[in-house]
Formats: sequence, structure tokens, C-alpha cells
Amino acid sequence: MTGYLALDVGGSHIACARVVDGRIEQRVHIPITSSEWFLPLLPRLGAVMEEVRTSSVIGVAMAFPGLIEPRSGRILSTPAGKYEDAVGYDFYGWFGDRLGLPAKIEVDGRMALLGERAFGALQGQDDAVLLGLGTGIGSAAIMGGAIVRGRCGQASVLGGHCSIDAAGPPCRCGNIGCAEAVASTWALPRLIAALPARGALHDTPEPDLKTVFDLARSGDTGAAIVRDICLRTWAAAALNLVHAYDAACVVITGGAAEAPEVVPFIAEHVRRHAWSLGDAPSVVRGALGADAALLGAAPLWESDRDSV
Ligand SMILES: [Zn+2]
Repeated sequence: MTGYLALDVGGSHIACARVVDGRIEQRVHIPITSSEWFLPLLPRLGAVMEEVRTSSVIGVAMAFPGLIEPRSGRILSTPAGKYEDAVGYDFYGWFGDRLGLPAKIEVDGRMALLGERAFGALQGQDDAVLLGLGTGIGSAAIMGGAIVRGRCGQASVLGGHCSIDAAGPPCRCGNIGCAEAVASTWALPRLIAALPARGALHDTPEPDLKTVFDLARSGDTGAAIVRDICLRTWAAAALNLVHAYDAACVVITGGAAEAPEVVPFIAEHVRRHAWSLGDAPSVVRGALGADAALLGAAPLWESDRDSV
């Protein structure tokens, strides 16, 4: 049996799991507050990893929301205001010193794609893209069986930061009109403020995408406007990924993918508008939910020889 310690670093918690032969044997969630820096979390993280580790574990795989240099594993950039102290830190050295284990660090969306391809909705797919919808928008791609990383590790993971609206709002990445700046959890306050009339969303403290879809379904006009902007934006982002990476399949992941309207809307948009020379690309929901990135641990360790 070969096992890995898998970490999935999110905005509200870090998931730490022992993954053995494609199965999560144990999982611990470390809650964090939105204002916390990353490096002060390391003592707590190390203690949890010791607790979860068994003799079957031969390495660490950490999914992180940022840009990562593929060879050194050093984090090059993080979303503005989040975990900026992790940039440049020698995590491979830290994991080695603290646990005596080799480590790999990968962008969270790319690890989720690897998990879905090995054990979920992308099994058997050599040409696919992932669109992750949540606080921000993540993406990843695989072409001809090779995971797409590029020169600095940023190829394929910036699908949420391709401009959808050249005259749109500024994004936290520095670009203008990114899909993520137009329609994501963090874009909701701007979308709600721009509504023509006051509605249920104005009275909802910290509304999320699930609230938007639930209210729209119940007939709230303002929520329906926000929902439709989100659907059109995500569909455009998905089709951009199909055109950029010649994908045969799009997998939609993240919390917003659970809303029943999302996958059918994107599938219909891709079916109608893709400039496809072969079979029309399929659009499916992720099969592994929040476990996708954790289950990407083993395929990440096995993927280095198959990347571009
Ligand atoms: Zn952006």
C-alpha cells in the first residue's frame, strides 16, 4: 500500500487527509480565520500531519490557491491579501525537516483535475479542462494526457483571470473584467449593489452563490439577474477554456457546481457556440466534490513525466 498526506489549503480551512490507494482513510479539517497568515499555521499543520500519518505514507502533496513554480515548489504569487507570507517560502525544506517526507506543491485546481481524472468524472479523458466555481474561479487543463503547466506554472490555471468584459470591473489580480471579477463569490457585493431595485439579497448578510441560486429559484427578481450574469460569465469562461486547450470534456467543480442550473446551462452554451472540429465537448459535474484535490495527491506524484 502506498499512501500520501494530502493537504488542500482553502480560505476557511485546511483539509489534511491520509490518502491510500485512491481512498481517503482519515481526514482532519483545520479551521482558519480569513485574516490569518499562512506561516504561523505551520506548527498546527505539522502536529495534525503527525497525527494523520502512518507507515504507509511516502510523501506529501499540498494543493494551494496561488501560482507555483513547478520545479522548486515555491509559491510565486497568491490572491491579493491572502497568504502573502507563503510567497517564496521553502515548503519542501519545511516538510523535510518537520516530517522527513518529500513534498510536492501544486495549484489547487490542477490537483482537483488530477483527482477527477484518476478517480472521478474525467476517468479515461486525455484532453479535458476543469472550471472551479467558488470564492474565485480556478481552472486547469490536460492535453494528450499531459498536465499543462507551462514555463512558470501558470499555464491553464488562470481561466478565471481571462477577460470576459474588456470594460468590466478591476480584478484583484490586476487585470480588468476577469471572469472572476465579474461573477464569483467575492464579486457578489458589486453585483448586488448594481441591481436596479432593492431585493432579498440586500437583506442577506454575507450572501453566497447558493443563496443567489436559491432565491432566484424562489422568484426573487434581483437574485435572478445576478444568477443569469453568473451563468453567462461561467459559460463564456468554460468555452474559452475549450477553445484554448482543444478539450473534449469540461468538468465543473466547486460549491456553485452543485446548483442544478449550472452544468446544463454551460453544456448548452458550449454545444451551441463551440467551434469544434470533432465531437462536441461534453460538460459534466465533478464526481468527487471537495475531495477532488486531496485525491489528486497520488496522480500528482506520478504526473511529472507527463507534463508540458
Ligand atoms: Zn483577474
